[in-house]
Order: sequence, then C-alpha cells, then structure tokens
Amino acid sequence: MKEPLGITGLVLNEPLLWEKGREGRIGFSMPKRDIEPSPLHEGLIRNGPDFPDLSEVDVVRHYTRLSQWNYGVDSGMYPLGSCTMKYNPKTHERQAALRGFAGAHPLLPEFLCQGILVLMFNLERYLAEITGLPAVTLQPAAGAQGELTGMMIVRAYHMDTGKPRHKILIPDTAHGTNPASSAICGFSPVPVKSNERGVLSPEYIASVMDEDTAGIMITNPNTLGLFEENIKEIADIVHGKGGLVYVDGANMNAMMGIVSMGQIGVDLMHLNLHKTFSTPHGGGGPGSGPVCVREDLAPFLPVPRVVEKDGKYALSYDFPKSIGKVHAFYGNVGVLIKAYSYILSMGQDLKRASQLAVLNANYIKERLKDTFHIPYDRPCMHECVFTDKFQKENKVTTLDIAKRLIDYGFHPPTIYFPLVVQGAIMIEPTETESKETLDLFIETCKAIAKEARETPQRLLDAPTKPKVRRLDEALAARQPRLAG
Ligand SMILES: *Cc1c(COP(=O)(O)O)cnc(C)c1O
Repeated sequence: MKEPLGITGLVLNEPLLWEKGREGRIGFSMPKRDIEPSPLHEGLIRNGPDFPDLSEVDVVRHYTRLSQWNYGVDSGMYPLGSCTMKYNPKTHERQAALRGFAGAHPLLPEFLCQGILVLMFNLERYLAEITGLPAVTLQPAAGAQGELTGMMIVRAYHMDTGKPRHKILIPDTAHGTNPASSAICGFSPVPVKSNERGVLSPEYIASVMDEDTAGIMITNPNTLGLFEENIKEIADIVHGKGGLVYVDGANMNAMMGIVSMGQIGVDLMHLNLHKTFSTPHGGGGPGSGPVCVREDLAPFLPVPRVVEKDGKYALSYDFPKSIGKVHAFYGNVGVLIKAYSYILSMGQDLKRASQLAVLNANYIKERLKDTFHIPYDRPCMHECVFTDKFQKENKVTTLDIAKRLIDYGFHPPTIYFPLVVQGAIMIEPTETESKETLDLFIETCKAIAKEARETPQRLLDAPTKPKVRRLDEALAARQPRLAG
C-alpha cells in the first residue's frame, strides 16, 4: 500500500478571536479624519458590539486554521451513502454569482427579470426530460420538502376526485424522511417489507394495496443501493386501485439518461439538485428539491408557475387547484442556477456520469466483498451496503471501522443506515473519484480489516489523528463547545 492519506501534518490549535485580540491592534488603516466626529459616530463607538482588536494576519490565520480542521469534498473522498457527496465544479458557483443573477431582487417586475424566468422555465424542461415527467415545480427547498410537496399533491388529487384517502405504503428500504413527510401530510404510513432480494415484490404490494390507500412512496434506487426491478408491475397494481406512485428520486445520480421514470409508471417524484446537480451540501446550506409530475397532476403544483407567452415569460398564479406556495418567492434560485449550469455543461454526458457512478460503486463492492460481509450480493446502483459481521468476531463494530477510516484520511461512509441491515456500512463513491482514489480507499479498508483481526485495539482507540477523538455525539449537538 502506498503511503496513506491521513498522515499527521501540522494541525494548529486556535483560540477564539476574543482571546486573541489585544487592545489597539488594527487590521485596517483609515484615512485621517478631516471632519468633526458626529454624536452619532461617538454613540456607535461607545455602544457598539464588543469586537476584539485584531491585525489582518490574526484574522487570516484564524479562519485558515479553522478551515483546516474541516473535511469536505474539496479535501478528499467523502463516500457518504445516500448523500451523493460528489465534487462540484467551481464554474457553477461562478455562474450563480453573476451580478445579474445574484443582484436580482425577488420583487423585480417580470419585465426586468426575464433572464431568470427563462432559466427557470428551461430548467423545468430539462428536469422534465431527465425524469420523463412533463410538469415541474422548482419551489421546494430540499428533498424532504419535495416529498411533502409531493404528498400534498397526492392528497389534493384524491380530494379532487371526491374520495380522500388516508393511507400510504412505505417500503422498509425507503429513506427515513418518507414516512415523516407523509405523516405530516396527514397520511398513515403502512410499512411494506422488501423481499429476500432486497426489493419490493408485486405479490406483497397487491396484498396491502386497497382503495383507502393513496399510493406508494418508493425510494428508487432504494437505500440498499438496489434498483426496484418490479416497479412497473407494482405501478400497475397501485394504479389498478386508483392510487399514485411517488418516487423519492434523491438518488437520480444513478439513473440520469438511463431510466425514464414517467415511462415505468411513476406519477410524481422529487429530485435533489444539491445532490445530483452540483450544489455543495452537507453544511445545512440552501438546497433544492424540485417535484416533477405527470401531465394531469400539473394543476396541483405550487404557485406561482413560470409561463411563457409569445416569447415573454411571466409568473402565473392562475391555477385554482394549486396546493399554494411551499416556499417564499420561487425557491432557492442560486441552487437552480448551479443546476442549470451543470446540466448545460454536461449535456449528453449526464448519462455517462450516472454510468460511472454505478461502475465505481460496483468496483468497490466487488473488491471489498471478501473483506466486509455483503448482505445482498447482486449488482448495485450508485452505492453498496456492507456490514460488520466478519469484524464482530473480534468485537470490532461498524462504528470502530468508520472511526479508523478517519485516521487514514477518509471521511467515513454512512453507517447504521439503512435500518434493515444490521451494522450497515453504506458506501457511495460517486463518479467524480478516480480509480487511484478508489484503489487507495479499498486498500485502506483491507488494512483496517486486517487490523481488526490482528490489533483490534487500534480500531477501538480510533481516531487518534484528528483534533477531536470520539465525541459524545448527543452532547456535541446539544452543547457545542465552540472554543478549540
Ligand atoms: C438525501 C435524501 C433525502 C432528503 O433530502 P434533503 O434535501 O436532505 O431533505 C430524501 N431521500 C433520499 C433517498 C435521500 O438520499
């Protein structure tokens, strides 16, 4: 194995700026004043916030050091399953920061913001093309809000037929947000078991689908990283009883240009622009979860909608069956601009991105399947799921493996999710990692498995190299200690 990534470098301690400050130190020289100070100024200075006095170098070092404690997609591989932590090309940030976009006020009259309206209109068309579902809203601010919007549309659809329904089928391989979104919308989630192949079986769906069930909410590919191969048959069963098929498409990264959701019987779905379409995420920043629907569900989409007439673009509220607004103004427009820029820059290569994402995940699966136990050994989509079954014999668990990866310079994968797999280790490499990086990751996992057999204490003590060791995660979230 080549030298691991996570060798110790200089990781510097850093006090708070308030501890660093020294009275009279300055980082900025003002020109000499040639007017008398006004009482307003004096008041501001006397009663202003208690900022420490710092030089420019104090401030630059402070923030640079803090940034070095951090780990992100720009520092290295971040194989967090279900989260699609792929590299986001910087050009998209640049486009979103163009003055005409970044400076546009959301209350501008339509004739002064035709550019943004055209962009939103076209982005809807692109997403419709990618999903095979013709009508789109860009308003929801995240995947989970897309799900809620989708569920509100499902409810509105059934209300409109005069027969409201109360239940919704949620597979055990669905993302955890799915039951929550449907419950918030007033539906009772009915859990559905997947079969021994890790996917849904049509027979089981037929046995639970009835005329009080509004539909089914399928994560596809599911959280085992497997494609729901029976989806068309399942859609026929659900439609046969008057229900709708919702797909959680946050994992569209596996399927762009490969699967037309509209054609396989999906009625509506959401996408995560901040996963698949190149917006950095993970720090709680703005996201976007557009919802794409089949033609006859379009009247229920949120307002306002971007409409075009004679080459002019406008925002229309004239949709009487709409579920209303789900976000202020038009959603997180900055994220939309990045997605638009990403789609245009990729073009036909979107399909290749998905193919490579799937290839990379299968490469890891094949090369690690003797190292970690694999619960469903079949071709996977963009992510693969292992367990700690082999390592448990040496009293080493998934958590220990994840923590040891940090010492070797990798962000740990998603762990203990999906819940249907005990001790799950869920790896999503994404298409943006090179073969060299994948190989280093694989070698590292093998080295850790060897340690688990020979020197398990190393795993139990891990991580030893970062600035903080094993945190009490509950306490760290509730009482964060912000000083280094
Ligand atoms: C990430 C994810 C979500 C939730 O998306 P947010 O933008 O975090 O709300 C939902 N479903 C799946 C499958 C996901 O991977």
